[in-house]
Amino acid sequence: MRVLITGGAGFIGSHLCDLFLDRGHEVVAMDNLITGSLRNIVHLQTHPRFSFINHDVTLPIYLDGPVDAILHMASLPSPVDYLEMPIKTLKVGALGTYYTLGLAKAKGARFLLASTSEVYGDPLVHPQPETYWGNVNPVGPRGVYDESKRFAEALVMAYHRTHGIPTRIARIFNTYGPRMRIDDGRVVPNFISQALRGEPLTVYNDGSHTRSFCYVGDLIDGLYRLLFSDEVMPVNLGNPQEITILDFAKTVLEVTGSTSEIRFVTPTDERTKDDPHTRRPDVTKAKTVLGWEAKVTLRDGLRLTVEWFRQRLAEMGKAG
Ligand code: UDP
Repeated sequence: MRVLITGGAGFIGSHLCDLFLDRGHEVVAMDNLITGSLRNIVHLQTHPRFSFINHDVTLPIYLDGPVDAILHMASLPSPVDYLEMPIKTLKVGALGTYYTLGLAKAKGARFLLASTSEVYGDPLVHPQPETYWGNVNPVGPRGVYDESKRFAEALVMAYHRTHGIPTRIARIFNTYGPRMRIDDGRVVPNFISQALRGEPLTVYNDGSHTRSFCYVGDLIDGLYRLLFSDEVMPVNLGNPQEITILDFAKTVLEVTGSTSEIRFVTPTDERTKDDPHTRRPDVTKAKTVLGWEAKVTLRDGLRLTVEWFRQRLAEMGKAG
């Protein structure tokens, strides 16, 4: 198959490029590099079945030749990024989904949307099944991300119902692993880089908020299975192992062997406004429909991730 991966130079997108190439497909990665990086795909530069197009998916897309599948991964999923770039966040979810769906229609391609657990907002149902409609503040700082993904899901369903496009919707829960941007502001890169630099780990507020972290290797396997399944309605993909942010900080200290202190911080900007108190996927559907569940434990996944961050920080140190 010839597969287009938007956000192909990003964290999850670049891992997907590797997976599709490993499984014998041809991959076209598209990215405008505002948060993605060519560093993530540099090892693919000379691969005979790989190509890269520098393009902003919020503008119309023209692509020569056949396209059998599109995975729309382009996104600004870090709360710090979407506070800084709220309009770009809305555009990539809305216009980016519109143009990539248009391309899927023109090429007769199947389509997978990278949606998010943020469609559930600050959830009143725990854990979150796909049938839950969510608790989102449309006018809060997170609204730009949450609503763009909710709009994207609605658009995908409209294209499916109107044009019969074989569409898939993955609701991706917190994912981590090598190639995360060190400065993207999310909790995993923040804590790991703070621990490795011997700086305090910045736990926001009282650290009682929970998240459930999925290793990227598990996630991309779930995305691959979903693309080739027949499931049109949304499917949660994540690891249901839930942990408070304070315990997560302690785990990062343990895995890195760091002696950094844990510092409780109250951000003065809007980054923790509407911060979901709890988050854990109900993965019953993924298990039943895809035969998929996350296998990598938090400690094992963190070890792999920490190793990568160590190397990356050393490279950055050398580069000055
Ligand atoms: N968080 C934290 N310290 C940080 C970064 C994040 O305590 O340096 C908290 C944040 O308030 C949230 C959780 O960690 O409760 C996860 O935040 P992240 O930005 O990784 O993504 P989210 O899951 O909110 O999209």
